Order: sequence, then structure tokens, then C-alpha cells
Amino acid sequence: MGKFAEADAEIAKIFICKKCKGRNKAGVAHCRRCGYKALRPKRREIRAKK
Ligand SMILES: [Zn+2]
Repeated sequence: MGKFAEADAEIAKIFICKKCKGRNKAGVAHCRRCGYKALRPKRREIRAKK
């Protein structure tokens, strides 16, 4: 943890399109790839150890 602090911050801001599963940045109203409005936040806790 903390190895990629910037990546962690980016992941916390990433929204996943439910249609094409494309990654979108937080703040976008709809998917930039397919225009789908259903986006869900990608908040996954990064597990350093499996
Ligand atoms: Zn999409």
C-alpha cells in the first residue's frame, strides 16, 4: 500500500461504464466511449497481499 499513491488516487476517481465497461474519470455525466449514462464508481480496496 502506498507504493502507487497516484494510482490509488486515480482509481478512486475512476467510474466504470456499465455498458462498455470503459473507464471514465469522475465528474463526467456519461461514458465518453459509448455515451451511456449509467456509470458506477470504482472503489476497490487494493489488496497488496493476497
Ligand atoms: Zn460506455
